Amino acid sequence: LAAREVRPAGTVVRVGEVAFGGPEPVIIAGPCTVEDRDQLLRTAEAVRRAGASMLRGGAFKPRTSPYSFQGLGETGLELLAEARALTGLPVVTEVLDTEHVELVAEYADMLQIGSRNMMNFALLRRVAATGKPVLLKRGFAATIEEWLLSAEYLLAGGNDQIVLCERGVRGFDTATRFTLDLNAVPLVRQLSHLPVIVDPSHGTGRRELVPPMSLAAVAAGAHGLIIEVHPEPEQALVDGRQTITPETLADLVRRVRALNAVT
Ligand code: PEP
Ligand code: MN
Repeated sequence: LAAREVRPAGTVVRVGEVAFGGPEPVIIAGPCTVEDRDQLLRTAEAVRRAGASMLRGGAFKPRTSPYSFQGLGETGLELLAEARALTGLPVVTEVLDTEHVELVAEYADMLQIGSRNMMNFALLRRVAATGKPVLLKRGFAATIEEWLLSAEYLLAGGNDQIVLCERGVRGFDTATRFTLDLNAVPLVRQLSHLPVIVDPSHGTGRRELVPPMSLAAVAAGAHGLIIEVHPEPEQALVDGRQTITPETLADLVRRVRALNAVT
């Protein structure tokens, strides 16, 4: 069901007014993690002003260490809903666990399946059943075939509102956090009708690499970007090293639009 031949013209995934798979790349921006009301509302307003069309922010966080901040949970979801009401931006947030799927779906406009859960088939089935649009991140050690088979679980569950997200794979080089696999973009576009976006924040782990890799992703044919932004990246509770400021985002949005106009 994910194969390009099924829908040669491509699928357009709609989240409110936002359309993935159309002519304009969709820019999703926001903090890695919802930290508190002030941080989230400030960031949401700033990313709206910078020209982003959707807000991201984690309420349930998949942390490598159980001792790291795990997110605000339902309080974080309430804050995301408040940020949406304030800015008009639709919200995408991660659902970590099958038992939270309905709860997250009550608040979010799009459900994110994280890299670590790409092969959580029970979660995929449960998320498909909500009928909500899904952002399916690539597992950081998953092949493209495995990633498309995870999309197949959602499609087989009756949900075709799927946006794929390349977010870097594990390589041998420790100079960057992950290795952003931009090969995946044109390849997935050839293999599947589903839109594909890129996460240059997790894909590089370094904020200075986010603008150039964003432009490279759009040049390669990405249907959008998901970018971590914080008003004070150095103070971010999670992933500050890869987080850009709203000013950098505003500049990047202009450059992405200009690049898209010529390609
Ligand atoms: C995220 O986008 O917040 C995140 C945790 O990403 P990933 O699942 O790609 O690591
Ligand atoms: Mn993050």
